[in-house]
Amino acid sequence: MKLTGLHVLLTYKCTYECDHCFVWGSPQQAGVFTLAQLEDAFQQAASLGSVDTFYFEGGETFIYYPILIKAVERAHSLGFTTGIVTNGYWANNVTDSMAWLRPLVEAGLDKIEISYDQYHGDAHGANAAHPGLLAAGRYGLTASTISIDPPVRLASRSPGIHPRRTTGWRRCDVSRPGGRVIDRRLAPATVGHIQPLSL
Ligand code: SF4
Repeated sequence: MKLTGLHVLLTYKCTYECDHCFVWGSPQQAGVFTLAQLEDAFQQAASLGSVDTFYFEGGETFIYYPILIKAVERAHSLGFTTGIVTNGYWANNVTDSMAWLRPLVEAGLDKIEISYDQYHGDAHGANAAHPGLLAAGRYGLTASTISIDPPVRLASRSPGIHPRRTTGWRRCDVSRPGGRVIDRRLAPATVGHIQPLSL
């Protein structure tokens, strides 16, 4: 099998703590790729000759924003197509979201996928076009949604959005074993010590 893309889990730390998360992302998680480790991954990928895409995901990638920008910039300079997965917690409105995205666009970002619905922090709900997606569309990025249910209103129906670039939707797979809910269900029942009654 030819390896054509690599997805780097930049960190396990996340602003949310979704029950279905199969990487157990949470605010309590620690660890992040260093720039040196990223460079090592880039060089190994480049030496393979078949890898053309680098995705940066987590956890929540925007928590380590300066490292994320450097990662996109370096991957782009080496000729890789670049993508980010985020839960979009930073996207309060379209104008502010454009400010967040601009340094990444300038660094060479090609694609962004935003995980959002009522199962991802319930920040915006499934009925609203996510401001981060709208902002991404303004920059001409390839933008799509990751969610458990199909988005009710895709961003492509909103004005100012490139219709061919924002229709994507990827189902968040909750059917395979993983995540905190499954973990709890599989955990053995707690058995306490039986204390003799003293009458
Ligand atoms: S937003 Fe994504 S990475 Fe964060 S806890 Fe939820 S599923 Fe995991």
